[in-house]
Amino acid sequence: MRIVPVDLGEKSYNIYIGYDIAQTIIDFISQKQYSKQALIITDSNIADLYADKFKKILAKAGLNAHIAIIPAGEKSKSLKVAESLYTTAIKHNLDRKSPIFALGGGVVGDIAGFVAATFMRGVPFIQVPTSLLAQVDSSVGGKVAVNHALGKNLIGAFYQPQAVFMDLNMMKTLPKREIATGLGEVIKYGFIYDIDFYNYLTTHQQEILNLDKDALVHIIARSCEIKAQVVSQDETETGLRAILNFGHTLGHAIEKETNYQVYNHGEAVAIGMIGAAKLSVKMGLITQDIVTNMSKLLLNMNLPIIAIKCDAEKIYQDIFHDKKTINGKVSWVLLEDIGKVCINKNVPETFVKEVIQEII
Ligand code: NAD
Repeated sequence: MRIVPVDLGEKSYNIYIGYDIAQTIIDFISQKQYSKQALIITDSNIADLYADKFKKILAKAGLNAHIAIIPAGEKSKSLKVAESLYTTAIKHNLDRKSPIFALGGGVVGDIAGFVAATFMRGVPFIQVPTSLLAQVDSSVGGKVAVNHALGKNLIGAFYQPQAVFMDLNMMKTLPKREIATGLGEVIKYGFIYDIDFYNYLTTHQQEILNLDKDALVHIIARSCEIKAQVVSQDETETGLRAILNFGHTLGHAIEKETNYQVYNHGEAVAIGMIGAAKLSVKMGLITQDIVTNMSKLLLNMNLPIIAIKCDAEKIYQDIFHDKKTINGKVSWVLLEDIGKVCINKNVPETFVKEVIQEII
């Protein structure tokens, strides 16, 4: 098992990554002074596979957990579903010391975290991410949110979990497309932060695609370490944390323009990373061979590098509505090399328009 610490002063916590980690979960809970009544929030796909087993693990640690099942999919990340979860929590007598467990992908993690942050002004929150994307990205760093009809993640908070437990046995049931989605973010970490990690990814592609145990533990742990290092230095995104948005400015616009139907998050980010790399070439920061290498790696990992069904002008307009765009200035995360990025708020409009044409 690998343990990745997230250093956030009094809010510090550990991420536990491995196989068969039930005893670690029991030991952790046994040391806490939690109330007996607990809530497991999960989705309709994961409930049948893992919820009862997880409830039994919590029972061994002395908790009486109720399982709340939300429909699988992004639509569940709403205030309406959050309200139904508050109702469940109240009906099952949860109190201020009752822990809420998020057993699922990023959708479950985000809404369960939002409910934990707001129910009784904040109750203990524990992440048990089951998708690769949630393991390497959404469960780490404390961003919790629900969507609004006018935009994704617009209602949220920073709320850190008390621990994150990843049992990689659960990867066996994760659909292949969801694996690729997570790999989009894994590849991002190599490009923004760590050339050695990028080299590992290029030289271990087959092991990764075969879900080889050692390779899986390594890529998840290294991704968490990188995200943890960045978040520790800038918990609430006033500076450095913005580098994690590499590929996301164009990625979000592509997701929105295709109505969240054609590409899932990691796929859209993969295309967005190609766009950001192409912009970096136009700005004279890197050479074309880095874009070529990125394209090869993404394609080998079953990720797209071009978006279909998109309108260039609409994508361009969407970029200015991104919640990270402030006073009409887009903060572009650009590559200076593999493993090194910079933020640039003065990318010429013509370059952005050219790149959008090239990636759709
Ligand atoms: P998801 O939660 O919808 O999970 C994807 C699909 O995989 C779902 O159908 C789910 O039921 C299924 N699934 C998950 N684990 C499984 C398993 N082990 N076996 C079988 N099926 C399984 O989506 P996601 O990609 O995990 O997360 C996307 C969400 O994460 C988005 O809402 C996004 O906004 C959010 N996100 C949040 C952050 C953050 O920092 N909070 C970062 C990135 C993304």
